[in-house]
Amino acid sequence: MNPNICQICNGIEKDGINLLGAHLCTNCLNRISKTDIDDIEYEYYKSIIKKTWLNYIIEYS
Ligand SMILES: [Zn+2]
Repeated sequence: MNPNICQICNGIEKDGINLLGAHLCTNCLNRISKTDIDDIEYEYYKSIIKKTWLNYIIEYS
């Protein structure tokens, strides 16, 4: 996995954070923080983060 490819938008981004082994770009982080929890987009972000978290557990358990 290329650590510089954002797991949400698949964009290549040098900035951003590493969340449990998944790279998230600053654009997406900003969008997540501004997305209302009732928004369908929020569910999408949540599913990606959940998937990332599960992969992390599988890899390190
Ligand atoms: Zn992104």
